[in-house]
Amino acid sequence: MVLGEHVGGRKIDTSAAIHLNTANTLGYTERDRCAMLAELFSQVSERDVETSRLLASIVESSDDAIISKDLNGIITSWNKSAERIFGYTAEEAIGKPIAILAPPDRFDDMPGILDQIKQGRRVDHYQTVRRTKDGQLVNVSLTVSPIRDAHGRIVGASKIARDITERKLAEEALATQAERLARSNADLQQFAYVTAHDLQEPLRGISAMSELLQRRYAGQLDEGAHELIAHVVDSADRMRNLIGDLLKYSQALNAGEIQPTKVSTKTAVQWAVNNLKQSLDESAAVVEIGELPEVQGDMVNLVLLFQNLIGNAIKYRGAGPPRIGISAAAEDQDWVFSLADNGIGIDPAYHKKIFGLFKRLHPAQYQGTGIGLALCRRIVENHGGSIWVESEAGKGATFKFTIPMEVS
Ligand code: ADP
Repeated sequence: MVLGEHVGGRKIDTSAAIHLNTANTLGYTERDRCAMLAELFSQVSERDVETSRLLASIVESSDDAIISKDLNGIITSWNKSAERIFGYTAEEAIGKPIAILAPPDRFDDMPGILDQIKQGRRVDHYQTVRRTKDGQLVNVSLTVSPIRDAHGRIVGASKIARDITERKLAEEALATQAERLARSNADLQQFAYVTAHDLQEPLRGISAMSELLQRRYAGQLDEGAHELIAHVVDSADRMRNLIGDLLKYSQALNAGEIQPTKVSTKTAVQWAVNNLKQSLDESAAVVEIGELPEVQGDMVNLVLLFQNLIGNAIKYRGAGPPRIGISAAAEDQDWVFSLADNGIGIDPAYHKKIFGLFKRLHPAQYQGTGIGLALCRRIVENHGGSIWVESEAGKGATFKFTIPMEVS
């Protein structure tokens, strides 16, 4: 084994070599194995036949290229994986300068590595590009350690090169995908905002003209015509609600707009209750507000969140007056908020679906746009939390969401 020629100096720790051989089955990461092997090379210092043989078997069976070179950069050993990764056989590589592996634009980094070695320093997980015999480029992670002679003098370097081409390609594909996704999200946001915003103008026209028609021709139109006009006004109203909700949703999509400050969730709930005063009074609803914490968040969005949840508890009420309980409890690193009602409840089959955009369970019986819960989910996620519902049909619903105690 060629490496044996450089095994001089201190005695190698045989148990460490055996440990390394079994490290894979002991659950060590590849990175650990690499570091252990590098450490072994730095310990190899005496011609110990048994240890050399053991080390030789590790080197030959390694998936990584293991190469040694002298201080002039001349290759002195070359294992099977080096042959597999770089294409040169041991006969072709040994005696040649290590620079045969450098792509033209990477000649510069080799002297730097050798300088580190000459100073007795190890180079760990240095990511670079090397060239194979047939000119292909491979991404490698290098760990290079000094080799010492019997007197402790540095006489060469051992190099472990891991082929990380596939990992690099996967990383690049992931980054490209993330970038594309971010771009299409931003486009979608912009599109939703512009569409909703620009739709308001003609809609205002439809509403105004229908009302004018109703007023100006009040005496000349028959019952049927008035009914038709009422339908137009009603449709325009619904569309206005839809557009208003869409606008709120597209604004909430823009996570960058949230500037977290210390917010009292109790105040947010009180604002929401105040905004809903009329429908709370009309339905004779009772709202019980427990102890609620301060969180890092955005007041306007949190009011919107509570307002949607309380509004739904009123809208989807059962036979009796709505009872709504709002509370929060600390759990691990989160505040878990819960908003329980005694309304019509939700079949578990729909617990996930209702948080999707435009998802409505009773479009005929109740008015709505199907945006409220999608908006709630956005707001909670923008605050770093998650939202879900616990319910059964006919047994009321409890909406729960988390907000982290600490903003990361
Ligand atoms: P909208 O109320 O405009 O239809 P949401 O997104 O707020 O839209 O809610 C989606 C659906 O979830 C509703 O259509 C309703 O079927 C159901 N839902 C929401 N809140 C409750 C609740 N508190 N009790 C029962 N069902 C609810």
